[in-house]
Amino acid sequence: DEWPSIGTLMFRQVSASYSESLPPVIKDISFSIKGGQKLAIVGRTGSGKSSSTLAILRMIDVNSGEISLDGINLATVEASVVRRRLNCLTQDAFLFPGTLRSNMDPTEEATDEAIVSALKKVDLWTLLESKAGDKTSGTSNILSSMMDTDSLSHGQRQLFCLARAMLKPGKVLILDEPTSSVDTQMDIKMQGIIRAEFKDHTIVMIAHRLSSILDFDHVAVMDAGCLVEFGNPESL
Ligand code: ATP
Ligand code: MG
Repeated sequence: DEWPSIGTLMFRQVSASYSESLPPVIKDISFSIKGGQKLAIVGRTGSGKSSSTLAILRMIDVNSGEISLDGINLATVEASVVRRRLNCLTQDAFLFPGTLRSNMDPTEEATDEAIVSALKKVDLWTLLESKAGDKTSGTSNILSSMMDTDSLSHGQRQLFCLARAMLKPGKVLILDEPTSSVDTQMDIKMQGIIRAEFKDHTIVMIAHRLSSILDFDHVAVMDAGCLVEFGNPESL
């Protein structure tokens, strides 16, 4: 029930494609990382970085080989379960119409205190409190107010999604360039929050600024669907 409790991720000769009739977009990829380690994936556009993470999330088909998490082949786990147990953040900061609470905690598992604490960690609570309006007071009422998602900047929406990710239990965080369309200052801020709040998580992050992954344990370099290098950041 606690799976994945460690976060050991292993790719063994993995090839995957968008459909049976299409050629593989990742080819014969093998590597493994231990629970709690941080892996960056780099490579030019179209090299298969996003596809690799989609394969982990069971959003594209693994044709041959195996991806396992804590020794369990992901192909044997229901896709919806994989997506529920893994935490994922992408470029499109997705907010849906509804209350602040339902946006932060769609599965209704978190306490008000945990929601507020996560929003404070990303420095959004004061802003959201004021947006709820002068007449709304009390934490519970503020969380129950409807969100005006259009009134948040892209960077603010990314921070919101990061706060939402903090509430989701789990051991694995997958990031597909979540800071690619925010400015350098916001990138630094988000990278700091990710390191502080997901310290014990296994992290797989697709990165486009090399400066943001120098402290990672491993870097995977992809080219044309293949893993061309795998090492620590200093060695590359
Ligand atoms: P970028 O840096 O631009 O995000 P990437 O390394 O993430 O690139 P992928 O998105 O994994 O690259 O794409 C790898 C290959 O898969 C490319 O050849 C691309 O054309 C193909 N591809 C991506 N999305 C689809 C799709 N929905 N259907 C079919 N092929 C796709
Ligand atoms: Mg991509």
